Amino acid sequence: MSVTVFFAAGEDRWPDYRDHLSAAIAEAGVNARVVLDATPEEADYIVFAPGGPIEDFRPYRNAKAVLNLWAGVENIVGNATLTQPLCRMVDPALTAGMVEWVTGHVLRHHLGMDVHILGQNGIWRGGIAPPIASERPVAILGLGELGRACGRALAGLGFPVMGWSRTAKAVPGLDCHAKEEGLRHVLSRAEIAVLLLPLTAETDTILNADRIASMPRGAIIINPGRGALIDDDALLAALDAGQIGHATLDVFREEPLPPSHPFWQHPKITVTPHIASETRGSSASRVIAENIRRGEAGESFLYLVDRRQGY
Ligand code: NDP
Repeated sequence: MSVTVFFAAGEDRWPDYRDHLSAAIAEAGVNARVVLDATPEEADYIVFAPGGPIEDFRPYRNAKAVLNLWAGVENIVGNATLTQPLCRMVDPALTAGMVEWVTGHVLRHHLGMDVHILGQNGIWRGGIAPPIASERPVAILGLGELGRACGRALAGLGFPVMGWSRTAKAVPGLDCHAKEEGLRHVLSRAEIAVLLLPLTAETDTILNADRIASMPRGAIIINPGRGALIDDDALLAALDAGQIGHATLDVFREEPLPPSHPFWQHPKITVTPHIASETRGSSASRVIAENIRRGEAGESFLYLVDRRQGY
């Protein structure tokens, strides 16, 4: 018996996944055909990304799981037609990419690299060495797969790393906090704050004007989480007032970020085009294949989304 895996994640991504997915599923010991087109009755598993061909999941009555290509599920989790189990992407390569992106941008700001990279104009700016990492408190909001890995990497470089999550956590090397009072504690001390929260009803605009004002003056905000975690207008006002020293933003309320958006021109904002860490066909296919193997073996799926919590 062969299972049908419907790649409902967009034709443009198909070339990246076609061969990797077929190979990974075969390697997992499952006899499958991976197709770009399937009738609803045929689909045993759905590999999903927003913008693909499925919006209504009701006809896919035989599908045993919907396997989301992205770590973030805000574009599918509220879909009332979805009754099948929903799994999100957790992948060592995705995590490694995020650790590198976050570490790089934290170090850029910590070391004040811009002064020398952008200001190479014959002036010898000696005598102002950056502090060492142990003097620079960093906060990671969100202690999931990505937040924990980034926190551990930064702690490994010597930064005092505070973490914040919904439920209380203990992560070796990190000073962990939860709940509203935990957020107050963490933000009030964070010279650099990294946002790695999912976008949910609870986290929408979590970094609002009051919370931005509670951070140390000149603090840096780094957001590879989701654009809507931050109040854009409050951020712009805080940058103009010097309350925030710089914001490095990878994600935005509207993507692509419109050319007329003030973030593009702002001297204290760095825009990167949602490239902090990509899901790559070669490694993500193995994650998907393992979940299909589990489905066929009657084992529980990995990385199931809690529909009630929204992540
Ligand atoms: P996880 O689901 O593993 O972790 C989410 C973390 O956020 C958990 O620690 C969770 O708390 C915490 N959290 C959720 N809601 C709240 C809340 N209301 N208050 C406090 N903490 C909360 O997600 P990942 O680490 O895998 O990914 C995080 C996000 O990163 C994704 O959702 C996505 O938006 C973004 N992302 C961005 C990419 C990019 O290229 N820019 C690439 C990949 C992901 P608890 O531990 O208690 O559950």
